[in-house]
Amino acid sequence: MKPTALVAGNWKMNGLASSQAELEALAAMLKEGGKAACDVLICPPFTLVSAFATAGYTGIAIGAQDCHTAASGAHTGDISVEMLRDAGASYVIVGHSERRADHAETDALVAQKAAAVLGAGLKAIVCVGETEAERDAGRTLEVVLSQIGQSLPDAATAENTIVAYEPVWAIGTGRTPTVEDVAEVHTAIRKSLVERFGDAGEGFAILYGGSVKPSNAAELMAAANVNGALVGGASLKAADFNGIIDAYR
Ligand code: PEP
Repeated sequence: MKPTALVAGNWKMNGLASSQAELEALAAMLKEGGKAACDVLICPPFTLVSAFATAGYTGIAIGAQDCHTAASGAHTGDISVEMLRDAGASYVIVGHSERRADHAETDALVAQKAAAVLGAGLKAIVCVGETEAERDAGRTLEVVLSQIGQSLPDAATAENTIVAYEPVWAIGTGRTPTVEDVAEVHTAIRKSLVERFGDAGEGFAILYGGSVKPSNAAELMAAANVNGALVGGASLKAADFNGIIDAYR
């Protein structure tokens, strides 16, 4: 099975419900986004999931950026997958490097979160990626493959799970690995997925994330085993996000 490409926007802690302009810009962008040969996803902050999901956009999915492992309970300030599904989310990002760094999230916790996402019938986007120090030490593949091995739950399938390779040093910095480096890591991830899941491993989408913009999207998306992008900063501007989706038009 060939992976379905996905271009996903991660709005992080940006976006106000009071700003109609954001919704309108998104709506305008989506008129074009729907024509792409890839799935399109926006993951706004929790406060906008419901508004975006009920806004009636076609050709775009709405997701969230994190979740708790439990369905409900005494977890002040957290949000469950059931709540996100109820609000209209169909995807949840787990294990983003900012969650791993800011909230000390481990691979084991990321795997539990991903399992909660899959258990609720949503799709998980599981993020992995090396730090600059790890890359400089020649440990990129070791680190990324270890994260892949420990962050993906056994329930992961090509239909319900997407992997996002995001070098930590490329996120929000304007720096990207070379296309060859991206292809090397993605091909190693593919091999590890096939080793674990058999032929089904060929069907997992593997996104690249880290300073993707309209000017570099086409060459990054054309690299071996790259099946789309996870986009931070550039997903906040409708024209830029649209320009990245152009890689699939
Ligand atoms: C991200 O945070 O997932 C990301 C890829 O950010 P940016 O595109 O801004 O580098």
